[in-house]
Amino acid sequence: MKLSQLFTKTLREAPTDEEAINAKLLVRSGFVFKNSAGIYSFLPLGWRVLNKIADIIREEMNAIGGQELFMPALVEKKYMEPTGRWDLDVGYYVNEKRKAQNEKQEQFVLGWSHEEVLTTIATKFISSYKDLPFSAYQIQTKFRHEARAKSGLLRGREFMMKDLYSFHVSEEDLSQYYEKVAKAYHKIFERCGLKSIYTLAGGGVFTDKFTHEFQILSDIGEDTVYICDKCEYAENEEIAKIKNGDRCPNCNGKIEEKKSIEVGNIFNQGTKYSEALDLQFTGENGHKKPVVMGAYGIGLGRVMGTVVEVHHDDRGIIWPENIAPFKVHLIVLDGHNKEADKVYDDLIKNGVEVLYDDREDRTPGEKFADADLIGCPIRLVVSKKTLEKDGVEIKKRNSKELNIAKIADIKKQL
Ligand code: ATP
Ligand code: MG
Repeated sequence: MKLSQLFTKTLREAPTDEEAINAKLLVRSGFVFKNSAGIYSFLPLGWRVLNKIADIIREEMNAIGGQELFMPALVEKKYMEPTGRWDLDVGYYVNEKRKAQNEKQEQFVLGWSHEEVLTTIATKFISSYKDLPFSAYQIQTKFRHEARAKSGLLRGREFMMKDLYSFHVSEEDLSQYYEKVAKAYHKIFERCGLKSIYTLAGGGVFTDKFTHEFQILSDIGEDTVYICDKCEYAENEEIAKIKNGDRCPNCNGKIEEKKSIEVGNIFNQGTKYSEALDLQFTGENGHKKPVVMGAYGIGLGRVMGTVVEVHHDDRGIIWPENIAPFKVHLIVLDGHNKEADKVYDDLIKNGVEVLYDDREDRTPGEKFADADLIGCPIRLVVSKKTLEKDGVEIKKRNSKELNIAKIADIKKQL
């Protein structure tokens, strides 16, 4: 991608209506646009990052047997009423046809979670123990009435979520799958450059049972966790039996209080939804039983915002390579566009993702500042100085070290 063609531009100043670092940096660098409080557009650079996160999630969900599907955002009242969740103050209600409708009562809610929709779908296909287990997921926009939408991508009123649901004959079978998902989640966050802490938590509006959250330690986090300094056993303060200074119930290490961001959440839902929506199966003995369910969520935008909170410096974002919008940020100086064009074309031919600052109306200082702000992992510079050595300057975003590589060797050094 050539920067001269990219329709977005970096902003000189941080936006004044944002408090959180992730929002300030992502708006300034042209990754996202704030449409309203808690509602963002993903611009070309930001959309690339979000899609990379989505691809990582897909790979790991597919690897544990998750089947991808896509459900509607408009959820009719009849789905939510049987579980008592129609009246919860979480969603935005929508009228079916404002003018034609005599009664003003809303018939739809913008989907904020899809247990009811998928459970209803499953009643059409699942009838025997032979049909179980199975799991299905989607990556889709969710809508939630969030009162405090002020943390940028961390808490949106509209946001992208991966929601996986699993269906089992028994609690034991669910437990085994739950462990698999937990492992896949740790992998997903690690691949996105985040170290996740497996944390015991309450169930909110989803289940009466204990759940597990994947927390990323960060001072901007809204959550407080008590975590062992040795084995990393952790509990969310909402349910915690341990407190600061206690001994760890697992390993006798020391418990510390930390702020954190919940990027993922997994739930044992038992038979709450299957009973309410009549999803049953006939067991080997011929008896009918409600299906046992689990649900597992990850907020994609929240992951992206968290990565920025964790990986930045005073000059900009430092993207982990797996989710960087581009691997390489190529800068041309001193009007050597012909030589730099060739480097660009060669890298593209070799399958390297390159953002190429070919703009002729920018100073070197502006180009370097933009490269640091946007935060691609590797910066290459083609200039008079480097060409005298028949080379290109290489610098990693997370290091100060500068090296010159021969043009013919660039690919090897990336
Ligand atoms: P929170 O306690 O932060 O409100 P939640 O318990 O409501 O989250 P879930 O319904 O379990 O979250 O959603 C699954 C995942 O979706 C969360 O772990 C988080 O990553 C993401 N998520 C939830 N609410 C938001 C939001 N308002 N904005 C962005 N991501 C969100
Ligand atoms: Mg919530």
